[in-house]
Amino acid sequence: MAMGLVDNFQRKITYLRLSLTDRCDLRCFYCMPKTFTDYENPADWLLPAELERVVKAFSKLGVRRVRLTGGEPLLRRDIQDVVQRIAAIPEIDDISLSSNGVRLASVADPLHLAGVARLNISLDTLRPDRFKAITGGGHLERVLCGLKAAQAAGFEPIKINMVVLRGVNDDEVTDMVNFCLENNFTLRFIEAMPVGSTGRSAVSHYVDLAEVEQRLAERYTLEPAVMDGGGPARYVRVAGTALRIGFITPMSQHFCATCNRVRLGVDGTLYPCLGEQYSTPIRPLLRNDCSDKALSEALCRAVCMKPERHTFNEAPAKVVRFMSQTGG
Ligand code: SAM
Repeated sequence: MAMGLVDNFQRKITYLRLSLTDRCDLRCFYCMPKTFTDYENPADWLLPAELERVVKAFSKLGVRRVRLTGGEPLLRRDIQDVVQRIAAIPEIDDISLSSNGVRLASVADPLHLAGVARLNISLDTLRPDRFKAITGGGHLERVLCGLKAAQAAGFEPIKINMVVLRGVNDDEVTDMVNFCLENNFTLRFIEAMPVGSTGRSAVSHYVDLAEVEQRLAERYTLEPAVMDGGGPARYVRVAGTALRIGFITPMSQHFCATCNRVRLGVDGTLYPCLGEQYSTPIRPLLRNDCSDKALSEALCRAVCMKPERHTFNEAPAKVVRFMSQTGG
């Protein structure tokens, strides 16, 4: 344990993604079914003090970065309390948040003050009608207001995450580049993954991001770039501008060999790999007043179950839970 969290393939785990809820106020068709109601029981959600305890245990084992996600983490009313508790853990030097931005306008300031430094906002389209269609009724204007509030609050960087889907939004790649150029956002394109039945249905719209990069290279001069963040994106910079564009390619060029993360579901289920059904329940330990040693040992055992790589291409039907349930 002195070595921290190292899995069976010598990957060091330094990054924890914490799901604060499996609920969401949008219904992106590739993520959660429109009629889904089989949520975790709120009595089973980890409480702020329990989240703090788990993050502390992870931090003693070498985790340095925490991302709050979901579902939609801004639906969690105690999110500020959660952030403050995590920000007070000395070993944690980076707290970031993934959000759809719908509720961001009213909480951007307090979240920044509480200790969230970086934001990833999901935004697949800049067209209000299309936004409604993709998200099952969402209002684009609310996300745009949220982004403005986030800039005013001082978040830096703000990354826009766009899942590129053929016949859905692939004609907006350049519009999104211009939007991010104008607003000083970082842009990341993501390949659709067969996570849950919804993800599998979206794979028929799958776009290999090499194709997107090729299209962009015909229009802009792209230079290799780096960006801090601990994630798997490969970045380029649009020459002569500050715009960085990231490509997240789990399907066409997986990055499992450098995976440094695990995910904790809202109910305290630990998922060592997004692409595997395997999980370890941590909540029973927390609610049975386990010792710090027992908790650390359970985290180490779970990390040892991390597979060498996902098998989204070879076994696309393997993961039955939805992205919103794992903490995407
Ligand atoms: N609600 C937050 C948000 O919108 O960022 C956090 C959770 S959401 C599940 C996290 C990310 O997962 C979003 O960028 C979403 O587009 C992405 N996502 C969901 N299902 C996906 C899939 N099947 N393939 C690729 N990305 C997916």
